Amino acid sequence: ITLVLGGPGSGKGTQSTRLATEFGMAHLSTGELLRQQVASGTELGGQIEGLISRGRLVPDPIVVGVLQAAVKDIVRAGNAGKGILLDGFPRTLAQAKLFEECVGAPRTVVFFDAPPEMLRARLGARGRGDDTEAVIEERLRLHAVETPSVVEFYRQGGVLAGTRAT
Ligand code: UDP
Ligand code: MG
Repeated sequence: ITLVLGGPGSGKGTQSTRLATEFGMAHLSTGELLRQQVASGTELGGQIEGLISRGRLVPDPIVVGVLQAAVKDIVRAGNAGKGILLDGFPRTLAQAKLFEECVGAPRTVVFFDAPPEMLRARLGARGRGDDTEAVIEERLRLHAVETPSVVEFYRQGGVLAGTRAT
């Protein structure tokens, strides 16, 4: 398992697609999986939609449950041979720990470190449904609060590789 972390708009999705293609890994975007739940129109999807549209985080057991099911599907289909790349997860230290208990420990973690001004500029240009000014600010705020302890957790675990956006 490889994790790709970074603030909203840091390029996780773009670079994860390239990395997964380059190395033949299965690619799971947590944000995409959650948006698929929303699109499926279930009650759970409705709850998730309310959170995403406000820039809030989906509760840990829900995200980890959705990921666990997706990882199982990949393994069952025989597509995990070159590893699995998870993009945009975990968002909190609690999620990182829960994931290790429920799924397993990552071998490599990549963190795209980019300043908030750069993220704001990129998100403004992207224009997804949750890329409005107030929601962007909430996502940046949560990222600033939660991500340092996640990165530190993996740094101490000796699995962190890093890069600074330019
Ligand atoms: N999200 C979440 N937990 C995750 C990943 C995503 O709650 O582990 C939600 C959260 O509301 C976030 C949204 O999904 O703002 C979009 O996440 P994604 O990674 O697709 O986009 P980003 O904001 O990083 O560009
Ligand atoms: Mg993304």
